[in-house]
Amino acid sequence: VLLLNPGPVTLSERVRRSLLQPDLCHRESEFFDLQDEARTRLLSTYSLDSSQWTAVLMTASGTAAVESMVAALVPKNGRLLIVENGVYGERIALICAQYGIDHERIVGDWLRAPDWDAIAAKLENQPKDAGFTHVAVVHHETTTGRLNDLHALLKLCRDHGAGLLVDAVSSFGAETIDFDDPALSAVAATANKCLHGVPGAAFVIVRRSALKNAASRTYYLDLGRLARLQDERNTPFTPAVHAYYALVEALREYADQGARHARYEHYAALAERVRAGLAALGIDALLPAEQSSVVLRAYRLPPGKTYAQLHDALKAEGFVIYAGQGNLSKTLFRISTMGDITSTDIDCLLQCFARLLG
Ligand SMILES: *Cc1c(COP(=O)(O)O)cnc(C)c1O
Repeated sequence: VLLLNPGPVTLSERVRRSLLQPDLCHRESEFFDLQDEARTRLLSTYSLDSSQWTAVLMTASGTAAVESMVAALVPKNGRLLIVENGVYGERIALICAQYGIDHERIVGDWLRAPDWDAIAAKLENQPKDAGFTHVAVVHHETTTGRLNDLHALLKLCRDHGAGLLVDAVSSFGAETIDFDDPALSAVAATANKCLHGVPGAAFVIVRRSALKNAASRTYYLDLGRLARLQDERNTPFTPAVHAYYALVEALREYADQGARHARYEHYAALAERVRAGLAALGIDALLPAEQSSVVLRAYRLPPGKTYAQLHDALKAEGFVIYAGQGNLSKTLFRISTMGDITSTDIDCLLQCFARLLG
């Protein structure tokens, strides 16, 4: 089957074969070579300077990377403003509630871009010396396929002296992220979305200066400790060695295929092929292309078909699509273009849709 859900993704044979490498003790130098290569290659996806940025690995899913980032980088007496327009923004608020982190939510309509004026007003109207130290946002809100405008938010953060924490779990490796902006503090992501690794390895790309004031609210996911030990070619716990094998091989393949710009262009071509093909069958995209990521798009269910009917019929043909989340499950379906997918695969998918609806 071909996975068109937003992670885990369809693997290339090269990455799948990398899982068959020799057994490895995580206290041997070979493991630390692997860890070093993963960290170096993660920084090079966005050409980051290793004296300013560090890639901190953890054995976990993407949510844990977001949790680790938020739990460490909002300092003890810090305050976080969460920009929400979907399930993953909501999740950041739930993480804050869990840890007792002082936070406020600015909840927008899930079908709209964040209200920049409202966010600016919120950042402005704070008591002196008790304003928001940080802002958090989901870059690509996988709930709807919307790409939130980091550039606009970074400017607001810069104007108000706040650091930005980004859930880039479903955009890292494909979409543009403005790492040059001094307001960007950290970005959380995972191996098994745009990088085409397997589930089990996640990471935070963090500005080294932001780690200086890091809080230590969690034991396993303590970002400061993970960063310190990894810099010393060490690890606190047993990592998912095979997931690291796959991540490194996926990053080598990514570089060989032309790195980030090539991946972006590949996804963009696939996403447009899906959009145009479904439009020809009368199926509308939820959002205009210019507001969407190239990674995943949401579409309106065709009249007279439930999601379950559509899903089951496509699965029987070898394609796994994805439901809408929450209330959107009755009206939407989603198609991701991450993973080892070709334009021929998309043409087959569209032929299935045509047969189903025809
Ligand atoms: C997939 C995803 C996550 C986290 O997913 P896990 O299931 O924990 O790997 C978080 N944020 C966004 C935007 C995502 O798309």
